[in-house]
Amino acid sequence: MKPLSAKIAAVAPSATIAISDKAKKMEREGIDVISLSIGEPDFDTPKHIKDACIDALNRGETHYAPSNGIPELLSAISDKINRDNHFPCTPQQVIVACGAKDAIYEAMEAVTNPGDETILLTPAWVSYEPCVQIAGGNVVKHAVNQKTFQLDDSILERLTNKTKMIVVNSPSNPSGAVFDRSSMKLVADVCQDRDIYAMSDEIYETLVYGKEHISLASLGDMADRTITINGFSKSYAMTGWRLGYAVAPVAVIRQMSKVQQHSVSQAATFAMWGGVAALRGDQACVEGMRQEFDRRRKYIIAELNRMGYQTAPAEGAFYAFVKVAGDDTEIANRWLEQAHVAVTPGSAFDAPGWLRLSYATSMEKLKEAVQRIRRLDGK
Ligand code: PMP
Repeated sequence: MKPLSAKIAAVAPSATIAISDKAKKMEREGIDVISLSIGEPDFDTPKHIKDACIDALNRGETHYAPSNGIPELLSAISDKINRDNHFPCTPQQVIVACGAKDAIYEAMEAVTNPGDETILLTPAWVSYEPCVQIAGGNVVKHAVNQKTFQLDDSILERLTNKTKMIVVNSPSNPSGAVFDRSSMKLVADVCQDRDIYAMSDEIYETLVYGKEHISLASLGDMADRTITINGFSKSYAMTGWRLGYAVAPVAVIRQMSKVQQHSVSQAATFAMWGGVAALRGDQACVEGMRQEFDRRRKYIIAELNRMGYQTAPAEGAFYAFVKVAGDDTEIANRWLEQAHVAVTPGSAFDAPGWLRLSYATSMEKLKEAVQRIRRLDGK
């Protein structure tokens, strides 16, 4: 047989899956595992959003729709961007995709030429690197400061004449850190001075705790060179709907549109009606979930610190990022095998020596997990 694609063979499988597969296997064996490894809200999608989707199905919204998205959703998104993210956006600058992940993939394909370099700020979410590789680009990694989780001008050392794009993810998965204005401004200055594109993944934007979320595209002329990624999975507890979007200059959207037309065609028509209800409806559900995450965040961070663990600034998203002494993969395996608590090793995000704990689970389970870790540590 002839060899399969070398490009895809070179892509690593998702590093977060190994430990969650092991946890699932233990559960099947009847072991009561507490999973702090999941990256999705434990809440149900708010009822008014589900109802809008059901109504759409009942009205017969079961056919193909415009590839970039139904006009109602494109205008709801552009209104939201103008209102909440403080940069100008028209519906022509929006594309709705099958989740933010699909939007990220399409954007990488739209921008990258073979050999182009894309800078990832580590710790980085697992799918950016494979998306760059599949698009034919090369990844250059730059670690943020390991205490503040902010950016400093050491990033300048990573720039070459091949640098094409910088990816920013604030609030961050996995660190939970939120970039402050100076870190964002630094990215904006670098992109503007060196004619570089930016991808700003703002999927956790509504989950910030006492800190301001800044959209990269709102700084200077960054809207001309930024692809803003967002979606419904985290803010509205809609992970299974597979609904996300990108906002970008029209030339980039046109390129992304071609990738979309020849692959997934469009996001599901009735799901898009749920998206309209999410953005146009009452936002109290978003704030309600944020407050509950905040309560859990305060609890888990205080407990971890009491046990002597150093944590990254937990300013956003729903992750506690915990410094450990020793090999993080070994420690994650020990926590799973001996305490029956599943967490994700930082190595999965290019941050060895750290563990990611998701607090998108009930307070009751968090309390039990804390007790189990404390017992294991003999504290
Ligand atoms: N970006 C980040 C940083 C994420 O954590 C996730 C979900 N894990 C995504 C994008 C993808 O989200 P979606 O469900 O919209 O594809």
